[in-house]
Amino acid sequence: MYDVAIIGAGPSGSWLASRLAERGHQVVVLEQKKGWGEPICCTGIVSQECVEHYAIEDSVIFRRANSARVFSPSGKLLRLWRPEPQACILDRPALNLSLARRAQEKGAEYRLNTPVRGIEVEDNAVSIKTGDGEGQVEAVKARAAVIATGFGSKLVEGLGLGKFGDAVAGAQAEVATNGVDEVEVYLGQQIAPAFFAWLVPTLPQRAIVGLLSRRRPGFYLKNLISSLKAQGKITSVETGLSYGGIPLRPPARSYSDRVVVVGTAAGQVKPTTGGGVYYGLLCADIAADNLGQALKNDALSARNLANYEKEWRERLGWELRIGYWARKFYERLSDGQVDRIFDIIKNNGIDEALLKSDDLTFDSHGKAVLKLIGYKALSRIVEIVKLPFPGRSDTSRKFDSFEEAAEKNERRKQESGPG
Ligand SMILES: Cc1cc2nc3c(=O)[nH]c(=O)nc-3n(C[C@H](O)[C@H](O)[C@H](O)COP(=O)(O)OP(=O)(O)OC[C@H]3O[C@@H](n4cnc5c(N)ncnc54)[C@H](O)[C@@H]3O)c2cc1C
Repeated sequence: MYDVAIIGAGPSGSWLASRLAERGHQVVVLEQKKGWGEPICCTGIVSQECVEHYAIEDSVIFRRANSARVFSPSGKLLRLWRPEPQACILDRPALNLSLARRAQEKGAEYRLNTPVRGIEVEDNAVSIKTGDGEGQVEAVKARAAVIATGFGSKLVEGLGLGKFGDAVAGAQAEVATNGVDEVEVYLGQQIAPAFFAWLVPTLPQRAIVGLLSRRRPGFYLKNLISSLKAQGKITSVETGLSYGGIPLRPPARSYSDRVVVVGTAAGQVKPTTGGGVYYGLLCADIAADNLGQALKNDALSARNLANYEKEWRERLGWELRIGYWARKFYERLSDGQVDRIFDIIKNNGIDEALLKSDDLTFDSHGKAVLKLIGYKALSRIVEIVKLPFPGRSDTSRKFDSFEEAAEKNERRKQESGPG
């Protein structure tokens, strides 16, 4: 019997496999894909901090980025720029392979072409039903299971841990470009309803074009590709469209007896941008510490694993809640209001101020959101939208209401002078 069976060989599953294997646990990773080269619906932008923290190999990095061009619905441009690289664009299949290799070097076993159909929690073990599409082939036994299946698997729900509170759909394709070498972001209800679209350069003359959207991602992506072709930015589409999704709100729980859920399957994704690689890795570290201890003590009840959820929510809960609020706020804006916000940001130098401060980083947006809504020039739009601010139930930070948060922000602004 294995100590742990990890379902899903994405970044979260493989990083957790590494961390548990290096503690001497017997780990098996069960992955439904047949090979490492299969396309992944993920653009692969992560922060420079993520690359450094997890020592992501250079060979996996397409390029580094220190700027982005953000276009409003009517085409107004905001160029966000910092002197140092802020993000790295990764070859996503290569990242998965690289993290899996590291886990294998630590002793984890990998089984590809092994889709998991269900998990049964028994008194002293978990029994994991795997299948090959033509019926059940094997039950893998382990002392504990980790669900790291990303978006779209029913395993979490099947264990009664709940569903995503909200989610959006995504699509992307690889394209040849006419030398686009800055990340571009496009806003607008006609471009990507409720979210945004992007063109992200990878290799020279190549890019990934993609979007996340409330509805019909394929339809909107095809429209965007036509428009970018007409503008001369895209010359040809090199792959078919791939589809995915991201949760905007986590399921109710990320643990039960002998089971933990990690990564996108647990809703550990930024609702502001849809980025989930770094949050998944961070939470895999938290899971490794808690599950590792529980395995050592042979104390694998839900009660003993509850600290995992407490810790990751302490780390990310506030960001997820403010981020979700910001996402819903954006969703309520008309294209005209988004354009107006662009004008206000540019005319008041808000972009410059944010970029100079530490409030806006690639991975945490909560402070920048609070700062933005605290600006007097933007308060009229905030009032019109009338979206109640997150309440007190969060365990990590306490903001009673929008008013209180705005008040605190106002105070912070006064203390730190104009800006
Ligand atoms: C269009 C789009 C673009 C994105 N771009 C970015 C980006 O630029 N940067 C970023 O940080 N995030 C991005 N994301 C989000 C990112 O892809 C995920 O958050 C990230 O991959 C999560 O890693 P994970 O290991 O939790 O899950 P995943 O990477 O999804 O890995 C899950 C693995 O589990 C396997 N699996 C699923 N079900 C089963 C099963 N039943 N049995 C066996 N195996 C199974 C899957 O095949 C997969 O290999 C994007 C998402 C979308 C949809």
